[in-house]
This record gives sequence, structure tokens and C-alpha cells, in this order.
Amino acid sequence: MSEQKYVYFFGEGKAEGSAEMRDELGGKGANLAEMTNLGLPVPPGYIVSTKACAYYYQHDGKYPDGLEEQVEENLTKLEKAMGKKLGDPENPLLVSVRSGAPVSMPGMMDTILNLGLNDETIKGLIKQTKNERFAYDAYRRFIMMFSDVVLAGDEGRPNYRPELKRHRFEELFDEVKKEKGVSLDTDVDAEGLKEVVSRFKEHFKKAYGEEFPSDPREQLRFATNAVFESWNSPRANSFRKIKSIPDNLGTAVNVQAMVFGNMGDDCGTGVIFTRDAITGDNVLYGNYLGNAQGEDVVAGIRQSMPILEMKAVMPVLYDELQEHAQRLEKHYRAIQDIEFTVEKGRLFILQTRSGVPTATGRAVIKAFVDMAEDGLLGKGEAGRQQAVLEIQPDHVDQLLHPQIDPKAKAKPIAKGVNASPGAAVGTVVFTPDDAVSEAKAGKNVILVRPETTPDDVHGFAPAQGILTQIGGATSHAALVARGMGKPCVAGCGQISIDLASKKFTIGDIVVKEGDTITIDGTKGNVYLGKVPTIPPEMTDELKKLLSWADSFRRLGVWTNADYPRDAKVARDFGAEGIGLCRTEHMFMETERLPVVQDMILAKTAEERQTALDRLLPFQRDDFIGIFRVMDGLPVIIRLIDPPLHEFLPAHDKLLKDVTKFSMANHQFGGVFAEELKEKEDMLRAVESMREMNPMLGLRGCRLGLVMPEIIEMQVRAIITAACMVKKEGVDVHPEIMIPLIGHVNELKVTKDKLVEVAKQAMEEQKTTVDYKFGTMIEIPRAALTADDVAEVADFFSFGTNDLTQTVFGISRDDAEGKFLMRYVEQGILERNPFQTLDRDGVGKLIKMAVENGRKTNPKLEVGICGEHGGDPSSIEFCHQVGLNYVSCSPFRVPIARLAAAHARLKE
Ligand code: ADP
Ligand code: MG
Ligand code: MG
Repeated sequence: MSEQKYVYFFGEGKAEGSAEMRDELGGKGANLAEMTNLGLPVPPGYIVSTKACAYYYQHDGKYPDGLEEQVEENLTKLEKAMGKKLGDPENPLLVSVRSGAPVSMPGMMDTILNLGLNDETIKGLIKQTKNERFAYDAYRRFIMMFSDVVLAGDEGRPNYRPELKRHRFEELFDEVKKEKGVSLDTDVDAEGLKEVVSRFKEHFKKAYGEEFPSDPREQLRFATNAVFESWNSPRANSFRKIKSIPDNLGTAVNVQAMVFGNMGDDCGTGVIFTRDAITGDNVLYGNYLGNAQGEDVVAGIRQSMPILEMKAVMPVLYDELQEHAQRLEKHYRAIQDIEFTVEKGRLFILQTRSGVPTATGRAVIKAFVDMAEDGLLGKGEAGRQQAVLEIQPDHVDQLLHPQIDPKAKAKPIAKGVNASPGAAVGTVVFTPDDAVSEAKAGKNVILVRPETTPDDVHGFAPAQGILTQIGGATSHAALVARGMGKPCVAGCGQISIDLASKKFTIGDIVVKEGDTITIDGTKGNVYLGKVPTIPPEMTDELKKLLSWADSFRRLGVWTNADYPRDAKVARDFGAEGIGLCRTEHMFMETERLPVVQDMILAKTAEERQTALDRLLPFQRDDFIGIFRVMDGLPVIIRLIDPPLHEFLPAHDKLLKDVTKFSMANHQFGGVFAEELKEKEDMLRAVESMREMNPMLGLRGCRLGLVMPEIIEMQVRAIITAACMVKKEGVDVHPEIMIPLIGHVNELKVTKDKLVEVAKQAMEEQKTTVDYKFGTMIEIPRAALTADDVAEVADFFSFGTNDLTQTVFGISRDDAEGKFLMRYVEQGILERNPFQTLDRDGVGKLIKMAVENGRKTNPKLEVGICGEHGGDPSSIEFCHQVGLNYVSCSPFRVPIARLAAAHARLKE
């Protein structure tokens, strides 16, 4: 009978699995197997597959048939390979037990080291190593880790035993240190550690009610179950839910022979990236800590050595490490994040994984661009394609975050490690929960912690930036912050945090909860108050990457810009046109608004015309500025869109004013009559314009049909401006866009009138310009009748914000806070359709409108100008349905260029 294989061995140059078997072996196990096959020095071990865990869950915590036998077989194999036996008092085998899900996720079980130790086997360990101090150091670590990881349980659950938490043991350890008068772990001698072990065991018994489990096989079973159970921890569950990772995958268990970095000064442990994780420079990056084990280097317990210094101290080991690093990077074709241990001068590799998720966007971009140029990703164009595909929109987004203004004269109050770049300003909070609640209340916050652990992660997302007191460039805070693109200053030893009274101090400076600080994760500086920031610039590698992306994409990338300065930014970022220039912003500016109000409130045609005549030069000059910046590129200008009352004071404010002035007028015998009348007139006007449902009211093209003078003025301004810049030598391509049409006749009537105006303007200017005339498609009826509409339009621009509102029949402003988020949480909608285009509904309509529109007008130019134009998934859709371009906000332009290339390359 062939039985299901649940256990996979790796060791002595051969493994029963490979990196492809991630689903069964988990990420860590698959890579251990792969590295073994590559001939790297990996301590041997075996992997219990995720299938066993899945079975465990499907069968109420039972192991599948054959699992226990397979584990025994592989354990025996491991014992043979190591020449040691689990539980042997003469020559004991010690192992690590590590969880390893197919996708790395928080909430999974932490690693247990030195499993197999008890009062008997420690004698053998001392005999093997002739190092009593080391043996007791290993033992006290094991008791602490085992208690914390396997038995302490989760806060808020019935199995929770806070007395078994790691920090309780650390407190006991600190007591002994104090009694011995030493401060460093490494200064505690064998006797001291023996004392620590006995106190640990005593404490365990008191807290747990039973002796610490001494049978190594029982320890192993406990640990294996704990790994399986951790798959179902509340944090792992909620993470999987957010990331839509199926619950039935299960986690693997990695059991691996221990190697020891804590046996003396020729031992140590380290964590490195194959390239600088901040800049992407091609040098090893990370830390090495002598005479240490496991997570010591990450936890920042003692000062570790930057890896580049290791080169001087241990040149041979450094070279060997570098060789392995290059080998792994070449093999996996990506930056690697590697954990290693040195035991008595011998190097062992304990883990490799992609360094991409925890390096900065800048580093990822530089590394892949360099690797493509060095031929590490394939030959020529293939390598460039690979680089473009590997780099994600988020990486580019990270580079487009603000930086501290170099001209700002601010003096830092403290300096730490520059762990994740970018500047962040916010008020100080000291707990992740406070970060969540303050951010919900609309505040920008900086999360300040002594150090961070996976329990703090929910406080990262709502924070603008992270500041920690302990830990370096590879600390937990640094890795998570970089992965999320949040600025982070880590290991800022100058600050001293008092969590109880929610403040930190630097000398005499006291910073309390709620005080504003600025952190500069690029340099590692901390400032008091708000320091000015400047917009980001593109690095050379980003420019190169985007030029490669441009050569692969078919979709154009335009921008939404209302002002020349925005247009300039967007053009520098590579925008190929303006897809939406909103004219009403121009109406809102202080000096113009009164004129606009006069125009709206005008009682006669003459009064209205006078106001419009005053507005025209403003508009014309705005357009001149934009046309100059966009020399040679198309500019789509949308005529007035919002309802007119948006330009008038709010109704309730007016009501209050009228009451106020009428009382004052009464009291002071009529002196306020004039003001009162003014307010009353305004109130009456506003009341006459009030609508039950302004989103569907008198706006868009409807305004132009009721009050054609406004859009006639706008078109005169556009065409006049175009003629004027043309005479300066500017290559100008204006496109006039009518918003919110539902019926082709709305467009036809409007267009006929405006074409006349344009003709007149050109005659006045004694020159002609080529212009286009088109419409925004944002009402379902317009999309449904696209073939008719296209006969009158040169272009369509899908206004997907309003189109999503009208297709769903959902008012965005009312929905997002109230029920839309709940829809997403409950899975009624997969995603917020205002962020990511709803392909099945809105998208279907777009696809149909494009096809039908092009049938009657093959030259029809089609784009999208809603916020979706900057969203990678929506951009992919736009590519698929054959739009000519997407238009997005200036800072999204580089992201859109990359996303458009991805869409094409994934085709
Ligand atoms: P994580 O997923 O948190 O990185 P790991 O399973 O990689 O957890 O282990 C945590 C620490 O334990 C790492 O520093 C690793 O180097 C160390 N470690 C794991 N297995 C062994 C082993 N067999 N020998 C020595 N150290 C080990
Ligand atoms: Mg690890
Ligand atoms: Mg609209």
C-alpha cells in the first residue's frame, strides 16, 4: 500500500524537495531543501508537510496515519547524519522547531531552539562541548522559549498564561544579573546560568502546576502541536482573511539539527541582505553578533557589528558568506534576506528568503535594474522585462513620498538608525491601539515604541511613521516599516521612553503623548514640531526602469492637472497629456469668486455678461500657462461641471447671518439694513437653487444648456489662449470636454453652439488651431448609447468616479463611511469600487461603450480620468479593453507607467 508522504528529509547535500514545493513544505522548508541541493552548508533536518497540518484540522486534532512512523524514520536518519541521538545523556541531539507556512504571515509560532535539553542531556552537552557555561545558556534559552511559545497561549483566550511569557523569564534573568553585578548576558558565568535555569524551572512549576516537560519526544510533540495550533491563532486567521489566503493550506513544521553561535568568541549569528536594503547598492547589508544565538541579533540585546566590519575582523568567513550570498541571489534572481550562524569558525546558512518585501522601494528598484544590466535576470530585453515585472507599483510609490526640505533649518533633537526612508510628521502615540484610535479620529500620528514585536503591527498601518529606541536596520520595526513604505527611525538610543506616563525624554527635552514631532527615516533624524518637507524626485534607476516600462507598454499615461505647476510635475514624471483639467477650481480662487457670484446672481443678461467678461481674462491666462507647459501634448479641458450653488455660501450659514443682522438691525434702529438685504438676497438666491439631490441635478452639460453664456466664455478663453500660444510657437492641442451627458442631443446642441464660438475666437485671433470636441462618459445612458454619442464626439473620457456612483446607484460621500466598508468586510463586494474599478459592472459598460463608440467613429480617442486611472488593477483593465490612455494625478504617473507595462507583459 503506498501511503501519503508527509515528511521530507534534507541533509548531506541532498533534499527530498525543492523551492517549487512551497505549498507542501512551506516557504522556509522549501528554501532549506533548495539550499541543501545547491550544496550550501545547511544543518540537516526534516520537514513535516502542510498536508499533515491540514489533516489535523480536518480531523479534530488527529495526526494522519503513518505520520508518526515517518517522523520516527526521519528522526533516525537525522540522528545518523549527526552521530547523536535525541535524549541521549551521553551524546544528545538538539534541534530547532520552526513553523513555515506557504506564505509568510504574522501570528505563526516563533522558533524554539535547543529542543532536547533536560537535566540528563545537559550533562552530555557539557561533555560534547566541554563548555558548561554554553550548555546552561542553551538550557535557559530553551526553557524560556518553550514556555513562551508553546504554553503561554494568546492574550484574551482561555489558554493564556501570562506568567509563562518571555518577559517574566527575562525579569528573572535580570534579577540574577543584578545579584551578580553584571549587565550583559555574556558576562553571566556558568554558575550564574545554572542558577537562572533552576529559577526558571521553579517559576515554571509554580505557573504551570507541573514540572517542565523533560522527555525530548514529549517536547517535540508539544512543539509540533503548537506549530499546528498557531495556524489557527487569531492573528494568523485575520491576516489570512485580509489577504484572501485559503484557510485549508496549513503550515509545515521544520525540525533541524542545532548549530550553536553561542559557544564562544569564534561563534556568532547574523542576518544579512545580499544588497543594501536601503539604497540597493551591491554590498552586503546587515549585522553580526558574536557569541550569540537565534534572534539575539534582531532583538538588539547587545551591540551588533555592521556586516562590513566583519570583513576586517573575519575576512575568510566574510568572503565565504559573500560567495553564498551571490550564489543565492543569482539562483533566486532577487535580493535575498539570509540568516546564518558561525559555530567554532564554521559557517552555516539557516534561512534564505526574498529580501524584496522588506527592502525599500528604492533598493528594490536599484537592485533589479542593476541585476538586469548585469545580465543576472536574463539576456538583454528579457532581463529588462523581468526587472519591470518584478518591481511593483508600491515600490515606485515609496519613492514618491515627501522628504525633509534640505533648506529647513531645523535641528534634530536625536539621531537613530535610518531604517526606512521618507519624512513623516505627526503627534506622538505610544501604543499601537492609540495609533489606531487617533488615526480614526483623523490625526496623523507617529508610533513611538521601545522596540516593536509582531503584536505591534496593527499600529503601523495607521501611523505616518515609526520611532523605536532599541534595534537596528534589521530589527522588527525596520523590516515591517520598510515593507509597508512607512518612514522609520529605529534604535534611537538617545530617547528614553516612559510608557507608564506616555512620554519620552532626551536630556531635558520632554515629549508627551499628543506632541508633534517629525522623523526623517532617510537620515535617521528626529525633530521637535513640524519640519517642512519637499516633494520627491525620481532617482536615476527609477528613470531607467520607467523608460524600459515605456518601451513595453501600449497604454498612454496622461494626467489630471488643473494648474500649470501640477502639469509641470506630471510632465516631469512622464505624463503624455492632460486627460482632465477642471475649470471650476479656477472659479474658486479668492479674487475670482466674487465675480463668479455676481455672474450667478445676475438679474439681467447684461449683468451676467459683464461678470463673464471680467472672468474671461483669468481663464484665458490659466489656459495659456497650461498650454505652454504641455507644449506638443494634448490637453483636455472640461467645461464647468458642479452645480452653481457650490460657488455660493452655504445655506445654513446664510440663515444664521440673516438672523444675526435682522436682530442687530432691530436693536440699532436700521443701521444694518443694507447688510441685511444683501444676506437676504443671497439666501433667496441660494434657496431658489437648492436641490434635493444635487449630484443628479442642474450640473454638467445641463448648466451649459440652461445658461450657455458660461461655457461660451470658457470656450472663447480656451481657443483664444490656444491661438495666442500658437503664435508664440507653442505646439498646442486643446480638447474641449462636455461633462455628464446622457443623451446625444445634449452634446449635439451644446457642440453646435460652441463650434461657432470657437470659429469666432479664431477669426478674432486671425489664426486657427486644431481642436477636438468630446465628452465625458459618466452616466450609464451615455455609455449604453455610445454609438450615437461617438458620431458627435472626437473623444470619450470615462469619468469613472461618477460612472461608478450612477451604475451602483450609490452616493460615494454617503456610502464610504457608512456601509461600503462593511460591504467589503462582509465580502458582499470584493473591493471598494471607488478605488478599484468594478470590472463586472462598470467595466462591462466601459468595454461595450468603447466597442460601440469605435464602430461609428473608428478614430475615437478613449481614455479614463477617474481616480481609477492611477490604480494598478484598474489600469490593467483599461489596457485589456483597449483604451488609448489613462489619466491620473501627477504623483501617480510613474506608477501608471509601470502598471501599464505590467498589463502588457502579462498579456
Ligand atoms: P523567523 O521566521 O522568525 O526568522 P527562524 O525559524 O528563522 O524564525 O528562526 C529564528 C532564529 O533561530 C534565527 O535567528 C535562526 O537563525 C535561528 N535558528 C533556527 N534554526 C536554527 C538551528 N538549527 N541552529 C541554530 N539556529 C537556528
Ligand atoms: Mg528566520
Ligand atoms: Mg463627474
